[in-house]
Amino acid sequence: TETGLQAETLPPLAATVAPERDLMSKFDGLIAERQALMDSGVIDPFAIVMEEVRSPTEAVIKGRETILLGTYNYMGMTFDPDVIAAGKAALDRFGSGTNGSRMLNGTFRDHMEAEAALRDFYGTTGAIVFSTGYMANLGMISTLVGKGEYVILDADSHASIYDGCKQGVAEIVRFRHNSVEDLDRRLGRLPKDAGKLVVLEGVYSMLGDVAPLKEMVAVAKKHGAMVLSDEAHSMGFYGPNGRGVYEAQGLEGDVDFVVGTFSKSVGTVGGFCVSNHPKFEAIRLACRPYIFTASLPPSVVATAAASIRKLMTAHEKRARLWDNARTLHAGLKALGFKLGTETCDSAIVAVILEDQEQAVAIWQTLLENGLYVNVARPPATPAGTFLLRCSICAEHSPAQIQAVLDKFAAAGRATGTID
Ligand code: PMP
Repeated sequence: TETGLQAETLPPLAATVAPERDLMSKFDGLIAERQALMDSGVIDPFAIVMEEVRSPTEAVIKGRETILLGTYNYMGMTFDPDVIAAGKAALDRFGSGTNGSRMLNGTFRDHMEAEAALRDFYGTTGAIVFSTGYMANLGMISTLVGKGEYVILDADSHASIYDGCKQGVAEIVRFRHNSVEDLDRRLGRLPKDAGKLVVLEGVYSMLGDVAPLKEMVAVAKKHGAMVLSDEAHSMGFYGPNGRGVYEAQGLEGDVDFVVGTFSKSVGTVGGFCVSNHPKFEAIRLACRPYIFTASLPPSVVATAAASIRKLMTAHEKRARLWDNARTLHAGLKALGFKLGTETCDSAIVAVILEDQEQAVAIWQTLLENGLYVNVARPPATPAGTFLLRCSICAEHSPAQIQAVLDKFAAAGRATGTID
């Protein structure tokens, strides 16, 4: 036989060797919890289908016209005519996919264009495109930090950062969310001569709070650590050139690696890392999540390149995004909602709720009134919180922002979340 096993060499009764174990039984708790939620008559918040998408801010969900306030489409680039034209042209000229890894046949003209656009956008000498932002973190962290070295991360880091640590073989050290003192203390306990990477995020996506990067980078440098900052939720609108929180805090030249994604402000899919390190290109030779997966389709990288180039001069859009975010933050606060941040620090406004029941009730009321926001729950959220996460788009009109506030006021009162 192909396996080289003969029937007579198999045990006559498998059950006598070991009892059968259903590996799927470990999900029974999750299945029961979800079923209980469904039995209470609510819509499944994690199974929403966009039946039609009309613009960066409007879709049809369950047959109803709905304002989108839960996408990461911060700069509203998904329907930009130049971006769409670039994607269509690449689709016509290069076909639908690459059928291969970047290392082999999967590097097309527009992968190079996207990397060139990133180098120009960030003003760096190096840029490497990955297939997603998740894979950029997975790849960069697991490849940069090796055996006997240390990766030091914020406790509220994104799952892709945690998974990058798990994929690697370095020692993992966590510090308290946004605590400069705790970072300093933990770095101080590590061997002086060991390699260290401190991983930070410009904006933390659950609460929309911003890292004190300036102080943290100073502490990291004091202890001889290199720094990687994930700027997924700040690209396009933070800092004079929209490079992120690290640019806004004057840290260009101090952050060694910046990770980002095409799935938010860029408006497509993909991930990247940019750096000025003279040996940065070596990552391509050693990074498994770069090597052992197919590269992005040509249409995707062509849209990314076009979008990134337009974001370089999108100053007016950026101003509109901040206006919208401030109006929404102030409006929700005035209505009496508990928010993730005291002030409007980013384009994410998190509405904090008491429990899952309250979160789902208000979420569903909003949806039935034509407003989509994200529900977030543990383990994605910090400290076991349930929240509704609003992410604002530059293309929301003032009338839409007012409609959002009216819908929140009605749903908040109907569910007893506010008085
Ligand atoms: N980093 C952060 C901080 C994120 O929030 C996300 C996605 N939500 C990612 C990385 C992963 O990006 P992508 O969607 O491109 O995989």
